Amino acid sequence: MFVVGLTGGIGSGKTAVTRCFETLGVLVIDADIVAREVVAARTPALQAIAARHGQTILLDDGNLNRAKLREIVFKDPGERRWLEQLTHPLIREGIIHGLQNAKAPYSILVSPLLIESGQAQLCQRILVVDVSRDTQIERTMQRDHNNRQQVEAIINAQISREQRLAHADDVINNEADLALLADTITKLHQTYLILSKQHDS
Ligand code: ATP
Repeated sequence: MFVVGLTGGIGSGKTAVTRCFETLGVLVIDADIVAREVVAARTPALQAIAARHGQTILLDDGNLNRAKLREIVFKDPGERRWLEQLTHPLIREGIIHGLQNAKAPYSILVSPLLIESGQAQLCQRILVVDVSRDTQIERTMQRDHNNRQQVEAIINAQISREQRLAHADDVINNEADLALLADTITKLHQTYLILSKQHDS
């Protein structure tokens, strides 16, 4: 199993990049989606969260009140650690399960926390989507209708651009337009097909 881990800061273009890989037939596992699934309504993990924080951590429909939990772990690092110890192994399991369904020669694991969460250990190669801080801010503001300060606060809470790049085997510079991005990914795809063949032999 040859897995390329894809990461990048907020608004760097991870979703745009994964779409291009998907059109080439590559299986993409999204760690954010798996993370939501492990705490879906009536899961053991959500029951454990409700046992710790009370039923008020649930919405009326039984789903997790994410905003409330986010607030708790933001204020209390101990609670953050407790939550991570509960969810990280489950997320890892879910990712591995998803990767096992891969029929293509290689798969992509996209995760904003690929490096911080240890998910990079599931990957043979790390691909970082990179843009300048200014581009990150402009594109995220436009997409999410947030103001500059809100976007800067999120960027500051993530690992730095330099730290991320230090882990990269490959870097996509996503400053240019989306057509150029597709060209870059087509070339990378050829490289990954060769590398995955070497890995399997
Ligand atoms: P997040 O971490 O918040 O999920 P992301 O890394 O997935 O963000 P995208 O949603 O792919 O980032 O991109 C952010 C915004 O920038 C989107 O509105 C997207 O359409 C736009 N965008 C991405 N790449 C380009 C590009 N090369 N040129 C112009 N706009 C782009």
